[in-house]
Amino acid sequence: MKNFMQYAPTEIVFGKDAEKEAGRLAKKWGGDKVLIVYGGGSVKKSGLLDRVKAELADAGVSFQELGGVKPNPRLGLVREGVKMAVDFGAHLILAVGGGSVIDTAKAVAIGAADPSVDVWSYWAGERQVQAALPVGVILTISAAGSETSDSAVITNEETGKKAGINTDFNRPKFAIMNPELTYTLPKYQLTCGIVDIMMHTLERYFTPVDGNMLTDEIAEGLLRTMITCGKKAYEDQTDYDAMSEIMWCGSISHNNLTGLGRPKDFLCHKLGHEIGGMFDVAHGATLSAIWGSWARYVYKIDPARFARYGEKVWGIVEDDEEKAAVAAIEATEDFFRSLHMPVCIGELEIGVQSDEVLRKLADSATKGDTILLGAFKKIDAQDAYEIYKAANH
Ligand code: NAP
Ligand code: FE
Repeated sequence: MKNFMQYAPTEIVFGKDAEKEAGRLAKKWGGDKVLIVYGGGSVKKSGLLDRVKAELADAGVSFQELGGVKPNPRLGLVREGVKMAVDFGAHLILAVGGGSVIDTAKAVAIGAADPSVDVWSYWAGERQVQAALPVGVILTISAAGSETSDSAVITNEETGKKAGINTDFNRPKFAIMNPELTYTLPKYQLTCGIVDIMMHTLERYFTPVDGNMLTDEIAEGLLRTMITCGKKAYEDQTDYDAMSEIMWCGSISHNNLTGLGRPKDFLCHKLGHEIGGMFDVAHGATLSAIWGSWARYVYKIDPARFARYGEKVWGIVEDDEEKAAVAAIEATEDFFRSLHMPVCIGELEIGVQSDEVLRKLADSATKGDTILLGAFKKIDAQDAYEIYKAANH
């Protein structure tokens, strides 16, 4: 077995009515002053925000609110949140929403811990995070896995750069997960979430190191669960069991349980972030648009790995490894198609792009070819361009 480190400290409260624990958990992990962060209004419309505020008030917790987080969350609002948290003297930042809201809360928590430095400097790679306020989460969409992950992704709207940082300071203290809160999701957000959850495991599964047996089995089981329950949820978003499995997969897929003993690849995420930062496209859609192109570009390095994926996840039985690998890639794309998710750039709302744009995306992803990306195959700017190009139809 390969060495690994695992740190997943988030307290999970999962199930119907779980949000009733908000006051108790906020007090336990923070104190009695909470900054609530939320998005564009879904939590107001559903009544969740009012219920959470009532729970906090009942527990004797005072709060302020920062609404208006947009998908592909913006640095400007993070800066506003840092100021609010500092002025208010917040003890805990409570995210009520999805990945964009949670990542904003994480960034505010980091910024507020040391307001003397520019919060973007952490995302620009100029300094390491040394402290953060505690973050709590009430999750409303199964997708990013940010409710347990060590990552936070922010877009600098002045430069169009979308960047993530990984630090254990990003691990939320608690996550309240009630699958019923996801019933109101627009279908497109549901399917973007399904893709993102699968990708968090695929980006760990396809790496050059032969991993640990249980890690592989968990990864394959998670992917099979997502396929079965993704189909059910697509048909009926109020299927409690299907929506529950998807929600739990979202956390497991990104708390690293499906990647122990393996390096992470995350090339498709990097390439997707470039598209998301430049064009404000939904995260999950950028991933399904790129994955097939990436997989065809790299599978020959280790067709056996793709063949195993095909057999264990898709039930593809085929003696010829190469054929099995291609069939596995096609099965994945067919599944994305069945959810009406894009499998190429032309199917994104931005349509087919010029060669100049593709070069720009590739250069930005590799920082002017100064860094190699990925793990399964090390990718330079030319490789990144080729992957974008093959997806550009
Ligand atoms: P999101 O961007 O947080 O939310 C997407 C949309 O779904 C919003 O318009 C939101 O509306 C809506 N929504 C959320 N819950 C809803 C509900 N219950 N009912 C109706 N509408 C609802 O989605 P996400 O996919 O979770 O997050 C994507 C972001 O996370 C991207 O920026 C991505 O790069 C990042 N990400 C982070 C990590 C990580 O570990 N930190 C990992 C992967 C991706 P409202 O705004 O009105 O609420
Ligand atoms: Fe993701």
